[in-house]
Amino acid sequence: MRVVTLTSEDDYEGWRDAARALAQGRVPPSEILWQVGDAPTDLFGDEAVLEPAAPAAFRVPRAFLDLAQSVILHSDPQRFALLYTLLVGLIEQPRRIDDRADPLVRRLEEMAKHVRRDIHKMRAFLRFREVEDAGTVRFVAWFEPEHHIVRANARFFVDRFAAMHWSILTPELSLHWDGETLAEGPPATRADAPEGDPIEEMWKTYYASIFNPARLKTGAMLKEMPKKYWKNMPETALVKELVAGARARETAMVQTARDSVGGNIAGAWEALRDEAKGCTRCHLHKPATQTVFGEGPVDARMLFMGEQPGDQEDLAARPFVGPAGQMFDRAMAEAGIDRSGVYVTNAVKHFKFEPRGKRRIHAKPDGGEISACRWWYEQERLLIKPEMTVALGATAARQMLGKVVTISGARGRAIELAEGGMGWVTVHPSFLLRLPDKTRVEEEYAAFVEDLKGAAKALC
Ligand code: SF4
Repeated sequence: MRVVTLTSEDDYEGWRDAARALAQGRVPPSEILWQVGDAPTDLFGDEAVLEPAAPAAFRVPRAFLDLAQSVILHSDPQRFALLYTLLVGLIEQPRRIDDRADPLVRRLEEMAKHVRRDIHKMRAFLRFREVEDAGTVRFVAWFEPEHHIVRANARFFVDRFAAMHWSILTPELSLHWDGETLAEGPPATRADAPEGDPIEEMWKTYYASIFNPARLKTGAMLKEMPKKYWKNMPETALVKELVAGARARETAMVQTARDSVGGNIAGAWEALRDEAKGCTRCHLHKPATQTVFGEGPVDARMLFMGEQPGDQEDLAARPFVGPAGQMFDRAMAEAGIDRSGVYVTNAVKHFKFEPRGKRRIHAKPDGGEISACRWWYEQERLLIKPEMTVALGATAARQMLGKVVTISGARGRAIELAEGGMGWVTVHPSFLLRLPDKTRVEEEYAAFVEDLKGAAKALC
């Protein structure tokens, strides 16, 4: 048995170097014991593994290294061994990393997703409290992560709160920033962190001003935000009161949200996109790889909305990059529309599919899923304010119009939208890909191009 001792729970470099040497020696996963300790002694219980008799070096896909960097931060003690098992498998089958039906790949992807979510939670739910520290002001926050994400998140807090002196206390370690240097300290307990303080009222005021009733889903909120986070957040005391007046505030909020970003639309869009990465408003986030947000210039005059990401979009985290996206690009070029000048998004931001063997087969989102995801589309519209929104297919048309319509009944004419601007309905390019008859494909493709031209012309 080889024993590998890593220096810390998030010691990615230690794991990577050891795993590389062991895999070169083709050491089976069952012969390795991974452990975390204070001293990096005894990196290998059996030094023979490092002998140059090992076979030639091998290459692993970049995607595996990205996956490993996230999975290492997971709290599951099995993570080192699981990653190593996949690494050894990739030597023989480098494409295995792309096989979303592979149980090991899926398990590791799921772990990486939990880590990403924990990183997001720390950024979203951590709250600083002001304390006097030797005549200077210091901000201190307490946070209990589920995974080993504190170091990985440090850069985010340094960048965001560069001008403040702050400390983040966690049960695993503490971080201290003095405006110039980031230092690590020992683990802390909740008792080390201050309770309520003068800026608590400011937080409450701020929260009340940004409270967003359109996103309100108290059941999911409680599930997503465990009570340990609620205790850290002064604004939670306001939730009950705010919920009571939610509907009345929603309309006013939607009208004023765009003005409130102080003209920094691109910054607000980036914040929105980052927030969507942690969305759990519906169950579709669970099997999908990641949120696929819209993309394009934030001052675009035209917004194109498809149904949902496909298999390739789900992996690339970009809309319209798969076969339907390529068909869309071609039609846009023929219609004389500059693809780089428009904003493209989907009615539903996570890939819905049914696993079938090694493949993931597209599944149509239902009404509940479309409604759950409407929030993100509304926010994209609020920021971009497109003069023309083109709905590609029935799901997008339903999202745009807030009701079920048939493509044949709504197609090819400008529709005034209640929230401003015009709408236009046409088919989704994947419809063209599914047609079995070549002549029909040509006819429908020509009609699709004409629809796109019509939408562009209606803008002039
Ligand atoms: S599909 Fe939309 S609402 Fe559902 S989890 Fe994804 S982003 Fe959130």
